[in-house]
Amino acid sequence: MYLKDSYLKEFQTIVKEVNDKNIILEDTIFYPESGGQACDLGSIFNEKEEFKVLSVKKDQGKIIHVVDKEGLKINEKVKCVINWERRYKLMRSHTAAHILSAIFQKETGALVTGNQLTPEKIRIDFDLENPDREKLKKYIEIINEVIKRDLDVSVYELNRDEVEKSNMSKLAKGLPSSIKVLRIVKIGDVDEQPDAGTQVKNTSEIGELEFLDYETRGKNNKRVYIKLKEKK
Ligand SMILES: [Zn+2]
Repeated sequence: MYLKDSYLKEFQTIVKEVNDKNIILEDTIFYPESGGQACDLGSIFNEKEEFKVLSVKKDQGKIIHVVDKEGLKINEKVKCVINWERRYKLMRSHTAAHILSAIFQKETGALVTGNQLTPEKIRIDFDLENPDREKLKKYIEIINEVIKRDLDVSVYELNRDEVEKSNMSKLAKGLPSSIKVLRIVKIGDVDEQPDAGTQVKNTSEIGELEFLDYETRGKNNKRVYIKLKEKK
């Protein structure tokens, strides 16, 4: 459900499997930790009690919700509520991370090799040999200008062979061959790539980015830390 509508904060569903404190639901709005994006937190309510969701992970195609106590039963109706403040920050960070990698690549030719999104900060790894603080700050300024253009973020599906023929082919190669139809996220004229994360609908929601720091982790591996500025 989180891919169909990233703005769903509450949802009713049915408990499918229970394994001690590990719960599988019929459908879920909880985003599992994946693709560098931290998982959602929140609560699952049955008629009597609240079960706090401590972590959400993917295991063999199933989404497992780890709750704070036992007691949920199979086939029970439940209400799920996600910690929206946390999720919304992750959505803003995720869309920002796509713009970051597009601009870094355009400005430096460097490829992003990894990223990690938490509510506190965005971490991007890329294969740049000689970055310097001033240049990095400059790139963040360019990115903030892009964000200010209020670009629409759209999602559509594309057959894998179409993706492989396009300039997104490099990104498609890393995905399991069992996936025949890919979900593509397009940010205005800035970025377009296969993606299974939660995104905002318009870059105006991101606000401004602030450069925090960078570190060298090898000749061609640099790690940059950025944070979302608090919105006024
Ligand atoms: Zn993504």
